Amino acid sequence: MSTREELSGKRVTVAGLGVSGIPAAKVLHGLGAHVTVVNDADDERARAQAAELADWAAARSASGPAGGISVRLGDGDTLPDGTELIVTAPGWRPDKPLFAAAEQAGVAVWGDVELAWRLRETGSGRPPAPWLAVTGTNGKTTTVRMLAAILEAAGLKTAAVGNIGVSLLDAVLGEEEYDVLAVELSSYQLHWAPSLRAHSAAVLNLAPDHLDWHGSMAAYATDKGRIYEGNEVACVYNVADPATEDLVREADVVEGCRAVGFTLGTPGPSQLGVVDGILVDRAFVPDRHQQAQELAEVSDVDPPAPHNVANALAAAALARAYGVPATAVRDGLRAFRPDPHRIEKVADVAGVAYVDDSKATNTHAAEASLAAYDPIVWIAGGLAKGAAFDELAARAAGRLRGVVLMGADRALIAAALARHAPDVPVVDLDRTDTGAMAAAVREAARLAEPGDTVLLAPACASMDMFANYNKRGEAFAAAVRTLAAERA
Ligand code: ADP
Repeated sequence: MSTREELSGKRVTVAGLGVSGIPAAKVLHGLGAHVTVVNDADDERARAQAAELADWAAARSASGPAGGISVRLGDGDTLPDGTELIVTAPGWRPDKPLFAAAEQAGVAVWGDVELAWRLRETGSGRPPAPWLAVTGTNGKTTTVRMLAAILEAAGLKTAAVGNIGVSLLDAVLGEEEYDVLAVELSSYQLHWAPSLRAHSAAVLNLAPDHLDWHGSMAAYATDKGRIYEGNEVACVYNVADPATEDLVREADVVEGCRAVGFTLGTPGPSQLGVVDGILVDRAFVPDRHQQAQELAEVSDVDPPAPHNVANALAAAALARAYGVPATAVRDGLRAFRPDPHRIEKVADVAGVAYVDDSKATNTHAAEASLAAYDPIVWIAGGLAKGAAFDELAARAAGRLRGVVLMGADRALIAAALARHAPDVPVVDLDRTDTGAMAAAVREAARLAEPGDTVLLAPACASMDMFANYNKRGEAFAAAVRTLAAERA
């Protein structure tokens, strides 16, 4: 029986209203399931969402088999009677009582990705589009978008899906018939997607993140490693991050599936790497011991910062695993434009470059962008989410002209700088208001000398001062534009 048939008439509990729960509830309702949505919060927003969903279902159920959708607000912990399946929002922690109750009752739990994976059969009898999947602590969105650009350059019908662009459910259920999908997966989504089997997959890097959710680094790594399970053609790992290769070794894959590494250095056999400014493939060539295929130039990567070249190599490896020609890798990378707030050059003012990497919301990301410039006036601070800054401060020390700190947890960064970069001037803005960004840019301009880069790479989340990292980046760009206008 297909999953669609199985779901018809089933009592399904959707855990969590929100970006994944609401579309999942609608899809399940459309397939004839009896849907109950449970949600922890019972606030104004949740009530509005619940009312909208109930109206939507009532309007449809006149013609549909399933009746309405019931919503239970203010209690996401009790398993509704008769539940036969839970479809959960990816962010719900596995140690929630709801899941313990499900386990005891023998009720399966799927995430939104599991649901999409199981529903991906096409109506036309054509085989469903294979998934090229990407995970990692940082660089997922960028890599998936580069991959989609490369696949498109090869003339394939594709989309970048996951946390960006098209949602997974829309991609598998919509009218559009894709040849192949470039899929971004978070560790949460992988945790709840036990039957996912990608054509090929990449883990870009592995640094401590979201450990409160997973419980431990080992559990986080295990969930990331699930992306390799059942891969058919290639498991792509980061040569510089041996933990990613360990995950390949532990995975159960289809016979003949290969481990393919990417490196910023000269590639060995079965690797992609860089030789004299050229991206080179020594994995997907007829004789990988003797041959190498030129793919693109480092200058084709926008921006050509080292970690971004690594992202391009990972994207190229997945595309090549799918059989894409070398010229499409080059054309796709040339066509790719980075998303806003990811090492985005805002302006040059008085010989100083101003770069917005507001998306560097953790230390691992900030470390990558700090490694791409020299000398730097670094603007940092925000919500630290329990991170430690010693390693970051020690690695960046030699490149720092100065530092401007703001935000709730700035004292943690100041203390790390005092330990590891005692000679670097630090301006502590002692502010967490939104206007602090304009002051930060002014202070940074005062510290910077021609040829320097002023880099916003906060190494922290933004929510103490801004609605999100986009708003933080916009505030930075606005302050830089004001500065430019004054100096013009
Ligand atoms: P994600 O989707 O994983 O959050 P993004 O592509 O949106 O990743 O990039 C987020 C931030 O992470 C970037 O702004 C940059 O600072 C950093 N970053 C991107 N790629 C890498 C990488 N390969 N290694 C380390 N940091 C990276």
